[in-house]
Amino acid sequence: MCKPKVGVYALTSCYGCQLKLATVSKILEISEAVSFESFYMLSSASTMAPDVEVAFVEGSVSTEKDLEELHEIRKHSKILVALGACSVNGGVQSWAEGDKKVSDLHATVYGTSKIDAAPLQATPISKHVKVDYYLPGCPPEEDEILYFISAFLFGTFPEPKDFPVCSECRMAGNPCILIERGEPCLGPVTTAGCKARCISHDVPCIGCRGPVPHNTSWFDSLASVFKAKGMSRESVRARMRIFGAHEPNLEGHLDKIYGGTK
Ligand code: SF4
Ligand code: SF4
Ligand code: SF4
Repeated sequence: MCKPKVGVYALTSCYGCQLKLATVSKILEISEAVSFESFYMLSSASTMAPDVEVAFVEGSVSTEKDLEELHEIRKHSKILVALGACSVNGGVQSWAEGDKKVSDLHATVYGTSKIDAAPLQATPISKHVKVDYYLPGCPPEEDEILYFISAFLFGTFPEPKDFPVCSECRMAGNPCILIERGEPCLGPVTTAGCKARCISHDVPCIGCRGPVPHNTSWFDSLASVFKAKGMSRESVRARMRIFGAHEPNLEGHLDKIYGGTK
């Protein structure tokens, strides 16, 4: 049987998505079904961008080198999957996007030291190349990783989720900590798939799976509670930007909650 060639590549990231992929329970079975051509977490002999059927790309574009590598990867891949919040949404490193210049951010972290990387403001990879599929999360969920790989092995495609964390939170039987305690939970505006992990541990969602597609029906009914609970537009905006700084519908989401008032 012909094994699909798969590449797993990292731009600027913590390598957590690769680690998650490398440690899924069925990684040995997956390794028998596909041919990993490049995967730094599994082999330091990996090289950048040989020709592959499927490329998983972790990390945001945060340096000129990232950008060059991303274009190389795209050129050598039939299917390109953005793997994880950094790649899909720009990640936490995008939080300050638009509020501070990248040169100021760089100076805050590195001072006047010279480093071997020309910095860019962190951006999702879709700002630079065509992305075929998005696998969100920080890091992505194991069952979704397996679903994506299975879909490609069967020659079909993974369907995106278009409903929010709230729906999974209700199915998990959690009390709503937003409604009952006024906690700033972003479940109403965050894409589902984690089975409401944080809320199930009594921690409000900070939106690591990225903003839910605009106009999803659950959004209006629950997100309006932010305002009713006395949360300001700026505080909600700051939380939504942790993982959603590049979301084009962000201000529209806020307008829906706050009626367009700032
Ligand atoms: S999405 Fe999260 S786990 Fe994955 S590389 Fe970025 S910070 Fe790390
Ligand atoms: S707002 Fe948060 S706690 Fe309430 S249902 Fe949605 S995800 Fe669950
Ligand atoms: S509850 Fe929110 S922050 Fe927690 S894993 Fe799910 S999407 Fe991420």
